[in-house]
Amino acid sequence: MPTPHSRHLASWRAGHAAIPKIQKSMPSKDVDALQSHIRVFVDRAVTFTTCPECGGSRLSEAARSSKIKKTNIADACAMQISDLAEWARGLDEPSVAPLLATLQQTLDSFLRSFVKHGFRIFDGIP
Ligand SMILES: [Zn+2]
Repeated sequence: MPTPHSRHLASWRAGHAAIPKIQKSMPSKDVDALQSHIRVFVDRAVTFTTCPECGGSRLSEAARSSKIKKTNIADACAMQISDLAEWARGLDEPSVAPLLATLQQTLDSFLRSFVKHGFRIFDGIP
């Protein structure tokens, strides 16, 4: 499974900028959304790299270290939805059974919706 962070390598939002002062001044803007002269400066002055601590997940150590069957929330968010649904179906924890049932229903509903609308898009049906 690809890490949840590999796809964030070039992202301002998910990887943290190497220059903290600039990062603080533009905490949540995508580089592409900046005015062109600022974007030119950012492209020249800033190196983007994946944060070595959180790997781009922006989750705290406490959040990252909390795992269910070896999977933390960042791993779960990076999963393909069909894999996530399969993973959720494999969870067996009676103390949160109602929550799990709702999660599984929601994921299955998403999957059915994706399949239904995916076929419509491929078939050119509006
Ligand atoms: Zn980080």
